[in-house]
Amino acid sequence: MSTVVRFAPSPTGLLHVGNARTAIVNYLFARKTGGQFLLRIDDTDTERSKQEYEDAIIDVLRWLGIKHDLFARQSERSPAHQAAADKLKAAGLLYPCYETAMELDRRRQRQIASGKPPVYDRAALKLTAEEREALEASGRRAHWRFKLSQTKVKWTDLIRGEVEIDTAHLSDPVLIREDGRFLYTLPSVVDDVDFNITHIIRGEDHVTNTAVQIEIFEALAGKGKAPAFAHHPLLIGAGGEALSKRLGSLSLAMLRDDGLEPMALASYLAKTGTSDPIAAFASMDELVAGFAMEKIARAPAHFDPAELTNLNAKLLHLLPYTAVAPRLEAAGVGGEAFWEAVKANLTRIADVTTLWPLVVGPVTPVIEDAGFAAAAAAVLPPEPFDETSWGVFTKAVQAATGRKGKDLFHPLRLALTGLEHGPELKKLLPLMGRTRALARLNGETA
Ligand code: GLU
Repeated sequence: MSTVVRFAPSPTGLLHVGNARTAIVNYLFARKTGGQFLLRIDDTDTERSKQEYEDAIIDVLRWLGIKHDLFARQSERSPAHQAAADKLKAAGLLYPCYETAMELDRRRQRQIASGKPPVYDRAALKLTAEEREALEASGRRAHWRFKLSQTKVKWTDLIRGEVEIDTAHLSDPVLIREDGRFLYTLPSVVDDVDFNITHIIRGEDHVTNTAVQIEIFEALAGKGKAPAFAHHPLLIGAGGEALSKRLGSLSLAMLRDDGLEPMALASYLAKTGTSDPIAAFASMDELVAGFAMEKIARAPAHFDPAELTNLNAKLLHLLPYTAVAPRLEAAGVGGEAFWEAVKANLTRIADVTTLWPLVVGPVTPVIEDAGFAAAAAAVLPPEPFDETSWGVFTKAVQAATGRKGKDLFHPLRLALTGLEHGPELKKLLPLMGRTRALARLNGETA
Protein backbone atom coordinates (compact mmCIF):
# COMPACT_ATOMS: atom_id res chain seq x y z
CA MET A 1 0.00 0.00 0.00
CA SER A 2 1.47 3.34 -0.91
CA THR A 3 1.03 5.99 1.72
CA VAL A 4 -0.75 9.33 1.36
CA VAL A 5 -0.65 11.88 4.15
CA ARG A 6 -2.00 15.36 4.43
CA PHE A 7 -1.11 18.55 6.20
CA ALA A 8 -4.28 20.55 6.62
CA PRO A 9 -3.75 24.08 7.94
CA SER A 10 -6.60 26.54 8.24
CA PRO A 11 -5.77 29.79 6.45
CA THR A 12 -6.94 31.85 9.40
CA GLY A 13 -3.50 32.95 10.53
CA LEU A 14 0.22 32.49 10.02
CA LEU A 15 1.87 29.12 10.39
CA HIS A 16 3.61 28.78 13.71
CA VAL A 17 6.22 26.33 14.88
CA GLY A 18 3.59 23.97 16.31
CA ASN A 19 1.87 23.57 12.92
CA ALA A 20 5.24 23.33 11.26
CA ARG A 21 6.19 20.34 13.38
CA THR A 22 3.04 18.56 12.18
CA ALA A 23 3.97 19.46 8.61
CA ILE A 24 7.53 18.18 9.02
CA VAL A 25 6.46 14.90 10.58
CA ASN A 26 3.95 14.30 7.78
CA TYR A 27 6.49 15.24 5.14
CA LEU A 28 9.26 13.04 6.54
CA PHE A 29 6.87 10.13 6.92
CA ALA A 30 5.71 10.49 3.31
CA ARG A 31 9.28 10.66 2.00
CA LYS A 32 10.43 7.79 4.20
CA THR A 33 7.61 5.54 3.01
CA GLY A 34 7.83 6.63 -0.62
CA GLY A 35 4.35 8.12 -0.35
CA GLN A 36 2.65 11.36 -1.24
CA PHE A 37 2.07 14.54 0.71
CA LEU A 38 -1.16 16.47 0.24
CA LEU A 39 -1.33 20.11 1.25
CA ARG A 40 -4.96 20.72 2.07
CA ILE A 41 -6.19 24.19 2.83
CA ASP A 42 -8.97 23.84 5.41
CA ASP A 43 -10.91 26.96 4.50
CA THR A 44 -14.43 25.97 5.52
CA ASP A 45 -14.51 28.89 7.95
CA THR A 46 -15.27 31.49 5.29
CA GLU A 47 -15.35 34.33 7.79
CA ARG A 48 -11.86 33.85 9.10
CA SER A 49 -10.11 32.28 6.10
CA LYS A 50 -8.06 34.69 4.01
CA GLN A 51 -6.23 34.31 0.71
CA GLU A 52 -3.26 36.18 2.11
CA TYR A 53 -2.87 33.55 4.85
CA GLU A 54 -3.08 30.75 2.30
CA ASP A 55 -0.38 32.47 0.24
CA ALA A 56 1.74 32.95 3.33
CA ILE A 57 1.38 29.28 4.32
CA ILE A 58 2.43 28.08 0.87
CA ASP A 59 5.31 30.53 0.84
CA VAL A 60 6.68 29.58 4.21
CA LEU A 61 6.37 25.82 3.57
CA ARG A 62 8.42 26.29 0.41
CA TRP A 63 11.00 28.21 2.45
CA LEU A 64 11.09 25.38 4.98
CA GLY A 65 11.77 22.88 2.19
CA ILE A 66 8.43 21.07 2.30
CA LYS A 67 7.18 20.35 -1.20
CA HIS A 68 3.66 19.03 -1.64
CA ASP A 69 2.75 16.42 -4.23
CA LEU A 70 -0.96 17.16 -4.14
CA PHE A 71 -2.97 20.26 -3.37
CA ALA A 72 -6.60 20.79 -2.40
CA ARG A 73 -8.80 23.54 -1.07
CA GLN A 74 -11.82 22.46 0.95
CA SER A 75 -13.92 25.38 -0.28
CA GLU A 76 -13.76 23.87 -3.77
CA ARG A 77 -15.12 20.53 -2.64
CA SER A 78 -18.55 21.54 -1.37
CA PRO A 79 -20.46 19.17 -3.69
CA ALA A 80 -18.60 16.19 -2.23
CA HIS A 81 -19.24 17.43 1.30
CA GLN A 82 -22.90 17.96 0.50
CA ALA A 83 -23.23 14.47 -0.97
CA ALA A 84 -21.71 12.99 2.17
CA ALA A 85 -24.10 14.99 4.33
CA ASP A 86 -27.02 13.68 2.27
CA LYS A 87 -25.78 10.14 2.74
CA LEU A 88 -25.57 10.61 6.50
CA LYS A 89 -29.03 12.17 6.60
CA ALA A 90 -30.48 9.26 4.62
CA ALA A 91 -28.90 6.86 7.12
CA GLY A 92 -30.47 8.77 10.00
CA LEU A 93 -27.03 9.74 11.28
CA LEU A 94 -27.31 13.47 10.71
CA TYR A 95 -30.27 15.11 12.40
CA PRO A 96 -31.65 18.63 12.52
CA CYS A 97 -31.53 20.62 15.76
CA TYR A 98 -33.11 23.98 16.47
CA GLU A 99 -31.75 25.06 19.83
CA THR A 100 -30.22 28.49 19.97
CA ALA A 101 -26.78 28.95 21.45
CA MET A 102 -28.42 30.53 24.50
CA GLU A 103 -30.79 27.62 25.01
CA LEU A 104 -27.94 25.17 24.77
CA ASP A 105 -25.91 27.18 27.21
CA ARG A 106 -28.74 27.25 29.74
CA ARG A 107 -29.19 23.51 29.39
CA ARG A 108 -25.47 22.97 29.97
CA GLN A 109 -25.54 25.13 33.10
CA ARG A 110 -28.44 23.07 34.47
CA GLN A 111 -26.63 19.81 33.74
CA ILE A 112 -23.50 21.05 35.48
CA ALA A 113 -25.53 22.32 38.47
CA SER A 114 -27.12 18.91 38.89
CA GLY A 115 -23.78 17.16 38.63
CA LYS A 116 -24.32 15.72 35.16
CA PRO A 117 -21.79 15.88 32.34
CA PRO A 118 -22.67 18.72 29.93
CA VAL A 119 -23.40 16.42 27.00
CA TYR A 120 -26.05 17.29 24.41
CA ASP A 121 -29.25 15.47 25.45
CA ARG A 122 -30.51 14.73 21.93
CA ALA A 123 -33.76 16.56 22.59
CA ALA A 124 -33.98 17.36 18.87
CA LEU A 125 -34.25 13.68 18.03
CA LYS A 126 -37.57 13.63 19.81
CA LEU A 127 -39.10 16.44 17.75
CA THR A 128 -42.07 15.42 15.63
CA ALA A 129 -42.36 16.51 12.00
CA GLU A 130 -45.01 19.04 13.05
CA GLU A 131 -42.80 20.50 15.74
CA ARG A 132 -39.97 20.88 13.27
CA GLU A 133 -42.26 22.57 10.77
CA ALA A 134 -43.51 24.93 13.44
CA LEU A 135 -39.92 25.83 14.36
CA GLU A 136 -39.05 26.44 10.71
CA ALA A 137 -42.20 28.52 10.29
CA SER A 138 -41.15 30.62 13.26
CA GLY A 139 -37.93 31.44 11.41
CA ARG A 140 -35.56 28.98 13.00
CA ARG A 141 -33.03 27.23 10.81
CA ALA A 142 -31.64 23.81 11.63
CA HIS A 143 -28.08 23.02 12.47
CA TRP A 144 -27.18 19.38 11.99
CA ARG A 145 -25.64 16.98 14.46
CA PHE A 146 -23.99 13.65 13.81
CA LYS A 147 -25.50 10.84 15.85
CA LEU A 148 -22.63 9.18 17.65
CA SER A 149 -22.83 5.44 18.29
CA GLN A 150 -22.30 5.94 22.04
CA THR A 151 -19.91 3.01 22.11
CA LYS A 152 -16.19 2.69 22.63
CA VAL A 153 -14.13 3.70 19.63
CA LYS A 154 -10.69 2.11 19.57
CA TRP A 155 -7.63 2.52 17.43
CA THR A 156 -3.96 1.72 17.58
CA ASP A 157 -2.30 5.09 17.44
CA LEU A 158 1.14 5.00 15.85
CA ILE A 159 2.45 7.23 18.62
CA ARG A 160 0.10 6.77 21.57
CA GLY A 161 -0.52 3.04 21.23
CA GLU A 162 -3.97 1.66 22.08
CA VAL A 163 -6.53 4.44 22.47
CA GLU A 164 -10.13 3.98 23.51
CA ILE A 165 -12.72 6.75 23.67
CA ASP A 166 -16.30 6.22 24.71
CA THR A 167 -18.43 8.43 22.49
CA ALA A 168 -21.26 8.15 25.02
CA HIS A 169 -19.36 10.84 26.92
CA LEU A 170 -19.36 13.24 23.96
CA SER A 171 -22.02 15.54 22.58
CA ASP A 172 -23.20 14.67 19.10
CA PRO A 173 -21.02 17.05 17.07
CA VAL A 174 -22.54 19.77 14.93
CA LEU A 175 -21.42 19.14 11.35
CA ILE A 176 -23.47 21.82 9.58
CA ARG A 177 -24.23 25.25 10.95
CA GLU A 178 -27.63 26.86 10.68
CA ASP A 179 -26.43 29.01 7.79
CA GLY A 180 -25.68 25.80 5.89
CA ARG A 181 -21.90 26.00 6.18
CA PHE A 182 -19.90 22.95 7.16
CA LEU A 183 -17.73 22.91 10.20
CA TYR A 184 -14.30 21.29 9.87
CA THR A 185 -15.24 17.77 11.06
CA LEU A 186 -17.15 16.35 8.09
CA PRO A 187 -15.27 17.94 5.16
CA SER A 188 -12.05 16.67 6.70
CA VAL A 189 -13.29 13.08 6.67
CA VAL A 190 -14.80 13.37 3.18
CA ASP A 191 -11.55 14.74 1.80
CA ASP A 192 -9.49 12.14 3.63
CA VAL A 193 -11.64 9.44 2.02
CA ASP A 194 -11.57 10.98 -1.46
CA PHE A 195 -7.82 11.57 -1.43
CA ASN A 196 -7.18 8.04 -0.13
CA ILE A 197 -5.37 9.33 2.91
CA THR A 198 -3.70 6.34 4.56
CA HIS A 199 -2.27 8.05 7.66
CA ILE A 200 -3.55 11.03 9.58
CA ILE A 201 -0.68 12.52 11.53
CA ARG A 202 -1.62 15.50 13.68
CA GLY A 203 -1.37 17.03 17.13
CA GLU A 204 -2.84 15.31 20.15
CA ASP A 205 -5.36 18.12 20.55
CA HIS A 206 -7.29 16.17 17.90
CA VAL A 207 -7.54 12.86 19.79
CA THR A 208 -11.21 13.36 20.70
CA ASN A 209 -11.99 14.47 17.14
CA THR A 210 -10.51 11.22 15.97
CA ALA A 211 -13.07 9.14 17.84
CA VAL A 212 -15.84 11.17 16.22
CA GLN A 213 -14.20 11.10 12.82
CA ILE A 214 -13.63 7.35 12.91
CA GLU A 215 -17.39 6.97 13.34
CA ILE A 216 -17.96 9.26 10.36
CA PHE A 217 -15.36 7.38 8.28
CA GLU A 218 -17.17 4.15 9.01
CA ALA A 219 -20.56 5.67 8.24
CA LEU A 220 -19.33 6.96 4.88
CA ALA A 221 -16.80 4.40 3.74
CA GLY A 222 -17.60 1.30 5.73
CA LYS A 223 -16.44 -0.50 8.86
CA GLY A 224 -12.68 -0.58 9.29
CA LYS A 225 -12.16 2.00 6.54
CA ALA A 226 -10.67 4.73 8.69
CA PRO A 227 -7.00 5.48 7.99
CA ALA A 228 -4.26 4.92 10.53
CA PHE A 229 -3.77 7.71 13.08
CA ALA A 230 -0.74 9.17 14.81
CA HIS A 231 -1.17 11.97 17.35
CA HIS A 232 2.01 13.69 18.37
CA PRO A 233 2.33 15.62 21.63
CA LEU A 234 2.17 19.39 21.28
CA LEU A 235 5.15 21.68 21.50
CA ILE A 236 5.59 23.47 24.79
CA GLY A 237 7.90 26.31 25.75
CA ALA A 238 11.23 25.77 27.46
CA GLY A 239 9.59 26.43 30.82
CA GLY A 240 6.69 24.06 30.12
CA GLU A 241 4.21 26.80 29.17
CA ALA A 242 1.75 26.35 26.31
CA LEU A 243 3.20 27.70 23.12
CA SER A 244 0.00 29.30 21.92
CA LYS A 245 0.45 32.22 24.31
CA ARG A 246 3.48 33.33 22.35
CA LEU A 247 2.36 32.32 18.89
CA GLY A 248 2.87 35.75 17.43
CA SER A 249 6.57 35.69 18.03
CA LEU A 250 6.93 32.15 16.76
CA SER A 251 5.40 32.40 13.34
CA LEU A 252 7.57 30.87 10.65
CA ALA A 253 7.43 34.10 8.71
CA MET A 254 9.05 35.91 11.60
CA LEU A 255 11.73 33.29 12.06
CA ARG A 256 12.47 33.45 8.35
CA ASP A 257 12.58 37.25 8.32
CA ASP A 258 14.84 37.09 11.35
CA GLY A 259 17.39 35.30 9.16
CA LEU A 260 17.03 31.78 10.46
CA GLU A 261 18.23 28.96 8.21
CA PRO A 262 15.27 26.83 7.17
CA MET A 263 17.22 23.63 7.79
CA ALA A 264 17.96 24.75 11.35
CA LEU A 265 14.24 24.95 11.99
CA ALA A 266 13.52 21.74 10.08
CA SER A 267 16.23 19.93 12.06
CA TYR A 268 14.90 21.25 15.33
CA LEU A 269 11.29 20.36 14.60
CA ALA A 270 12.22 16.93 13.28
CA LYS A 271 14.24 16.04 16.37
CA THR A 272 12.61 17.76 19.32
CA GLY A 273 10.43 15.36 21.25
CA THR A 274 12.08 12.30 19.73
CA SER A 275 14.56 9.75 21.01
CA ASP A 276 17.24 11.27 18.75
CA PRO A 277 19.50 14.06 20.01
CA ILE A 278 18.78 17.51 18.62
CA ALA A 279 21.43 18.27 16.01
CA ALA A 280 21.84 20.33 12.86
CA PHE A 281 21.31 18.61 9.52
CA ALA A 282 22.12 20.33 6.26
CA SER A 283 19.55 18.52 4.10
CA MET A 284 16.05 17.11 4.23
CA ASP A 285 17.44 13.84 2.88
CA GLU A 286 19.38 13.38 6.10
CA LEU A 287 16.26 14.07 8.15
CA VAL A 288 14.30 11.57 6.06
CA ALA A 289 17.01 8.96 6.57
CA GLY A 290 16.84 9.38 10.34
CA PHE A 291 13.05 9.53 10.60
CA ALA A 292 10.96 6.85 12.30
CA MET A 293 7.52 7.34 13.79
CA GLU A 294 8.56 5.11 16.71
CA LYS A 295 11.15 7.69 17.74
CA ILE A 296 8.46 10.26 18.56
CA ALA A 297 8.03 10.39 22.31
CA ARG A 298 4.70 10.59 24.11
CA ALA A 299 5.97 13.36 26.37
CA PRO A 300 5.55 16.95 25.21
CA ALA A 301 8.21 18.26 22.88
CA HIS A 302 10.07 21.40 23.89
CA PHE A 303 10.58 24.45 21.80
CA ASP A 304 13.28 26.75 23.07
CA PRO A 305 14.13 29.74 20.86
CA ALA A 306 17.62 29.89 22.39
CA GLU A 307 18.25 26.27 21.43
CA LEU A 308 17.04 27.01 17.93
CA THR A 309 19.44 29.95 17.62
CA ASN A 310 22.21 27.69 18.81
CA LEU A 311 21.30 25.09 16.22
CA ASN A 312 21.31 27.78 13.56
CA ALA A 313 24.90 28.62 14.46
CA LYS A 314 25.86 24.95 14.33
CA LEU A 315 24.23 24.57 10.95
CA LEU A 316 26.14 27.54 9.55
CA HIS A 317 29.39 25.91 10.64
CA LEU A 318 28.47 22.90 8.51
CA LEU A 319 27.67 24.81 5.35
CA PRO A 320 30.15 24.85 2.47
CA TYR A 321 30.76 28.11 0.62
CA THR A 322 28.68 26.98 -2.37
CA ALA A 323 25.61 26.74 -0.15
CA VAL A 324 25.85 30.39 0.87
CA ALA A 325 27.71 32.14 -1.96
CA PRO A 326 24.67 33.81 -3.56
CA ARG A 327 23.56 35.17 -0.22
CA LEU A 328 27.01 36.43 0.64
CA GLU A 329 27.20 38.19 -2.70
CA ALA A 330 23.78 39.69 -2.15
CA ALA A 331 25.02 40.99 1.21
CA GLY A 332 27.99 42.58 -0.55
CA VAL A 333 30.58 40.33 1.05
CA GLY A 334 32.28 37.39 -0.41
CA GLY A 335 34.94 34.87 -1.01
CA GLU A 336 35.38 31.32 0.12
CA ALA A 337 38.32 32.18 2.35
CA PHE A 338 36.24 34.81 4.14
CA TRP A 339 33.41 32.30 4.66
CA GLU A 340 35.82 29.70 6.01
CA ALA A 341 37.33 32.32 8.33
CA VAL A 342 34.09 33.59 9.83
CA LYS A 343 31.48 30.83 9.65
CA ALA A 344 32.30 29.46 13.08
CA ASN A 345 31.56 32.90 14.56
CA LEU A 346 28.11 33.44 13.10
CA THR A 347 24.77 33.01 14.79
CA ARG A 348 22.82 34.18 11.77
CA ILE A 349 24.14 34.50 8.28
CA ALA A 350 23.46 38.25 8.33
CA ASP A 351 26.28 38.53 10.88
CA VAL A 352 28.72 38.35 7.96
CA THR A 353 28.14 42.03 7.30
CA THR A 354 29.39 42.96 10.75
CA LEU A 355 32.50 40.81 10.30
CA TRP A 356 33.31 41.92 6.75
CA PRO A 357 35.01 45.16 7.87
CA LEU A 358 37.63 43.04 9.66
CA VAL A 359 38.85 42.17 6.17
CA VAL A 360 38.22 45.32 4.17
CA GLY A 361 38.10 47.91 6.94
CA PRO A 362 37.43 50.19 8.53
CA VAL A 363 38.43 48.84 11.91
CA THR A 364 39.22 51.20 14.75
CA PRO A 365 41.98 49.41 16.65
CA VAL A 366 42.02 49.21 20.42
CA ILE A 367 45.56 49.80 21.63
CA GLU A 368 46.09 49.33 25.34
CA ASP A 369 49.90 49.37 25.29
CA ALA A 370 51.38 51.44 22.47
CA GLY A 371 54.89 50.15 23.13
CA PHE A 372 53.80 46.54 22.75
CA ALA A 373 51.83 47.33 19.59
CA ALA A 374 54.81 49.12 18.04
CA ALA A 375 57.07 46.17 18.89
CA ALA A 376 54.59 43.86 17.17
CA ALA A 377 54.35 46.12 14.13
CA ALA A 378 58.12 46.02 13.81
CA VAL A 379 58.18 42.22 13.42
CA LEU A 380 55.17 41.78 11.12
CA PRO A 381 56.51 39.42 8.40
CA PRO A 382 56.55 40.39 4.74
CA GLU A 383 53.84 39.24 2.35
CA PRO A 384 52.73 36.86 0.89
CA PHE A 385 50.64 35.77 3.90
CA ASP A 386 49.10 32.36 4.35
CA GLU A 387 47.70 30.49 7.33
CA THR A 388 51.18 29.90 8.73
CA SER A 389 51.96 33.65 8.82
CA TRP A 390 50.11 34.19 12.08
CA GLY A 391 52.25 31.60 13.85
CA VAL A 392 55.44 33.11 12.45
CA PHE A 393 54.31 36.60 13.49
CA THR A 394 53.25 35.74 17.04
CA LYS A 395 56.47 33.80 17.68
CA ALA A 396 58.39 36.87 16.58
CA VAL A 397 56.30 39.12 18.86
CA GLN A 398 56.87 36.71 21.73
CA ALA A 399 60.60 36.77 21.11
CA ALA A 400 60.63 40.58 20.90
CA THR A 401 58.43 41.28 23.95
CA GLY A 402 58.71 38.23 26.17
CA ARG A 403 54.92 37.98 26.38
CA LYS A 404 52.99 34.77 25.91
CA GLY A 405 49.48 33.33 26.21
CA LYS A 406 46.65 35.75 26.74
CA ASP A 407 49.03 38.68 27.35
CA LEU A 408 50.39 38.14 23.89
CA PHE A 409 47.27 37.27 21.93
CA HIS A 410 44.63 39.49 23.46
CA PRO A 411 46.25 42.87 22.71
CA LEU A 412 47.03 41.68 19.18
CA ARG A 413 43.38 40.77 18.64
CA LEU A 414 42.21 44.14 20.05
CA ALA A 415 44.63 46.00 17.79
CA LEU A 416 43.91 44.04 14.62
CA THR A 417 40.12 43.71 14.96
CA GLY A 418 38.98 46.16 17.63
CA LEU A 419 37.08 43.22 19.16
CA GLU A 420 37.43 41.17 22.32
CA HIS A 421 36.50 37.98 20.50
CA GLY A 422 36.18 36.97 16.90
CA PRO A 423 37.25 34.71 14.08
CA GLU A 424 40.58 32.93 14.11
CA LEU A 425 43.37 35.38 13.41
CA LYS A 426 45.43 32.89 11.44
CA LYS A 427 42.61 32.95 8.88
CA LEU A 428 41.91 36.67 9.13
CA LEU A 429 45.48 37.94 8.80
CA PRO A 430 45.97 36.83 5.18
CA LEU A 431 42.58 38.31 4.31
CA MET A 432 43.21 41.74 5.85
CA GLY A 433 46.70 41.88 4.34
CA ARG A 434 49.91 43.45 5.56
CA THR A 435 49.16 47.11 4.88
CA ARG A 436 45.94 47.08 6.88
CA ALA A 437 47.42 44.96 9.68
CA LEU A 438 50.37 47.29 10.01
CA ALA A 439 48.18 50.39 10.12
CA ARG A 440 45.98 48.87 12.81
CA LEU A 441 49.01 47.89 14.94
CA ASN A 442 50.08 51.52 14.60
CA GLY A 443 46.71 52.63 15.97
CA GLU A 444 45.28 53.87 12.69
CA THR A 445 41.72 53.17 11.57
CA ALA A 446 42.11 51.00 8.48
N1 GLU B 1 -7.47 22.35 9.90
C1 GLU B 1 -7.29 21.49 11.02
C2 GLU B 1 -6.36 22.18 12.00
O1 GLU B 1 -5.61 23.04 11.59
C3 GLU B 1 -6.70 20.19 10.56
C4 GLU B 1 -6.69 19.14 11.58
C5 GLU B 1 -6.40 17.83 10.96
O2 GLU B 1 -5.22 17.55 10.69
O3 GLU B 1 -7.32 17.07 10.71
O4 GLU B 1 -6.41 21.90 13.18
